[in-house]
Amino acid sequence: MASETVLYMVIPCYNEQEVLPDSAEKLKNKISDLIARKKISKQSKICFVNDGSRDRTWAIIREFCQRDPVYSGICLAHNEGHQNAVLAGLMTVQPYCDAAISMDADLQDDIDAIDAMIDKYDEGYNIVYGVRDNRETDTFFKRFTAEGFYHFMKMMGADVIFNHADFRLMDKDALAAFGEYQEVNLFLRGIVPMIGLKHDCVYYKRKERLAGESKYPLKKMFAFAWQGITSLSSKPIKFIVDLGLGISVISGLVLIWSLFRHFTGQTIAGWTSLIISLWLLGGLILLAIGIIGEYVGKIYLEVKRRPRYLVQEFIDANMNKEK
Ligand code: UDP
Ligand code: MG
Repeated sequence: MASETVLYMVIPCYNEQEVLPDSAEKLKNKISDLIARKKISKQSKICFVNDGSRDRTWAIIREFCQRDPVYSGICLAHNEGHQNAVLAGLMTVQPYCDAAISMDADLQDDIDAIDAMIDKYDEGYNIVYGVRDNRETDTFFKRFTAEGFYHFMKMMGADVIFNHADFRLMDKDALAAFGEYQEVNLFLRGIVPMIGLKHDCVYYKRKERLAGESKYPLKKMFAFAWQGITSLSSKPIKFIVDLGLGISVISGLVLIWSLFRHFTGQTIAGWTSLIISLWLLGGLILLAIGIIGEYVGKIYLEVKRRPRYLVQEFIDANMNKEK
């Protein structure tokens, strides 16, 4: 029954004292509405994760929890960053819920999309991605850079869902599978699609921040993209190998060309040997670095100890007769 679904909303908060009272109110209204319409269970909660804030964020969360049992709170000992705060929240609430939705404290993501997410969950989807689709209001430059970002990530081997940030629903199975990924260099948007399972998207328009200011300035965004690429794939290393190969091929051409010039007497003494060794060595060095890099990349993926497979279902007549 849909009304038995215990839903947890996981909200990472870092210095969000300006926005919290407003967000908490709006989220509570949303949850109450869903409960009243028998979409989710009365046990459903809004769980704030305080990510080592330096302002009154945790004090505010505690007040909420004392006032109303619909709120719950997790306080991290340090500021661990958005991704780890979401992870901490999801893993902490996992035993208590049937499904969890992660979203930002500033409610830039449309909370009305939650209804559609729950409908998808009821249809049997394990993961529902919130995808923004209001690019038509963005300037050409903004759209170009933002969409370029997703294309670039994909090219670099980080397979992310187009225009999806960290607004998503995950059910119990998806959370359990997600818990198998033990990596420290965490990029949720890349890991969650790796899980597979049954998934779909809901579309919404992203809004302005309710209050306070963004914790993701441009510098942090670049760092974030870089973290995404380097934590998910070793593709950049392959580029070095390709470059090394390319230059080695070119050096072969340079060899022919400079020998031709040498024998037709169009050079000064020493030029031929110099130019040949320059290209040949350059190509070989790059190739060697690339090959070593390949192994380093393999070691990197190996130490992450990612699950090698996730069984979604097992049907067997002997299932309960284990030897
Ligand atoms: N956040 C966090 N830890 C951090 C930085 C941010 O938990 O170190 C939270 C923040 O409180 C917010 C969410 O991550 O709920 C997204 O941050 P923000 O809205 O500033 O990012 P933007 O929407 O501007 O990309
Ligand atoms: Mg925001």
